[in-house]
Amino acid sequence: MLSGLFKFFIPQAILTPPRLKEGTILPILGFERQIVFRHDIRRKVTITNQQIIISTPGQDFAKVLEAGLKDHIRQIFQDLCQDLAGRLGTHFNKIAIRDTRSRWGSCSSNGNLSFCWRLIFAPPSVVKYLAAHEVSHLKHMNHSRIFWKAVASLDPDYAIARQWLRHNGQGLLRIKF
Ligand SMILES: [Zn+2]
Repeated sequence: MLSGLFKFFIPQAILTPPRLKEGTILPILGFERQIVFRHDIRRKVTITNQQIIISTPGQDFAKVLEAGLKDHIRQIFQDLCQDLAGRLGTHFNKIAIRDTRSRWGSCSSNGNLSFCWRLIFAPPSVVKYLAAHEVSHLKHMNHSRIFWKAVASLDPDYAIARQWLRHNGQGLLRIKF
């Protein structure tokens, strides 16, 4: 079960950070998908079950990809945090997506949540754990036992995700285009 869930994860990308070209494999939310370049008037990124299609009229594929992935993960955190905050009887102000290297997420005292966009390369369970962690800080601004109880109430399997992040998190940072 565990290995099935996390099997295809990053090992390859950790050892050899992939260069962005047509056919490059990127792990997106737990599934490896293949890069496709497409010339189009509109700049956009389309994520299908097997592909990541980067459309642009120019050659700025890397820039378009990064912007598209940030939009994608922002929407996922927005929806997730909305749901989790509701379950905890609290609410957040807004969500920022950053390129942080020292922390995966944060919660400010005025209710702003922020997340590292590279979490898009992690399994969905890890994304969920980070959302549960930061949403729980809306109620408890510390890492007390009561805080971890709140995290567990939102994400009973959080310990597995936390462990995954500890072992593989550095690999996420190594992926660049
Ligand atoms: Zn924390």
